[in-house]
Amino acid sequence: MGKRLISIGPPGAGKGTQAARIRDKYGIAWFSTGDMFRAAISEETPMGLEAKEFVESGELVPDEIVVGVVLERLGRPDCADGYLLDGFPRTVFQAVALDGALGADGIDLVLDLEVDDDVLVARIVERGKRSGRADDTAETARKRIGVYGDETAPVIEHYDKVGIVRRIDGLGTMDEVFDRLTAAIDAD
Ligand code: AMP
Repeated sequence: MGKRLISIGPPGAGKGTQAARIRDKYGIAWFSTGDMFRAAISEETPMGLEAKEFVESGELVPDEIVVGVVLERLGRPDCADGYLLDGFPRTVFQAVALDGALGADGIDLVLDLEVDDDVLVARIVERGKRSGRADDTAETARKRIGVYGDETAPVIEHYDKVGIVRRIDGLGTMDEVFDRLTAAIDAD
């Protein structure tokens, strides 16, 4: 069985960049709920229309919508031999729903990428110049960091109780951070 991983961390911590490299190295499926919402919004699907105002204002998309999307995605064949969940779960409700769907030992490791708030805002604003993402502005970045502290930090505590969280320093070059991540994965 391939690795079953969650990457968690504040907006701008570098989750997406590192996730793509982890997928390539370990040959597991990877999906980002943020990417799925952005695609649905640009395709104007019914789900995208529902998610749009939340994503663009930096709020979380309601749990029922997110859980439905993720469980459907996890049921596809490419997830049968390991996966990396990027940006999910973002609330304790989502984590409990995931535990219920996967069973008690459905996740091997939670990789918690840690970066200071000041660095995050600067990175997000810089990324916004290239990405054109509607939520990559300083104001929305601060909002998303606040939402992360309120809603998502408790998810780390949830998984800490079962001893599967690995805290990774997210400062440094892309290669340095990748080496720390793979060291944590390989030690498991
Ligand atoms: P991200 O690309 O992970 O930064 O996500 C961008 C936006 O998509 C977030 O600010 C939320 O509006 C929405 N989103 C992504 N994943 C989730 C999730 N698991 N739960 C709720 N909203 C989410």
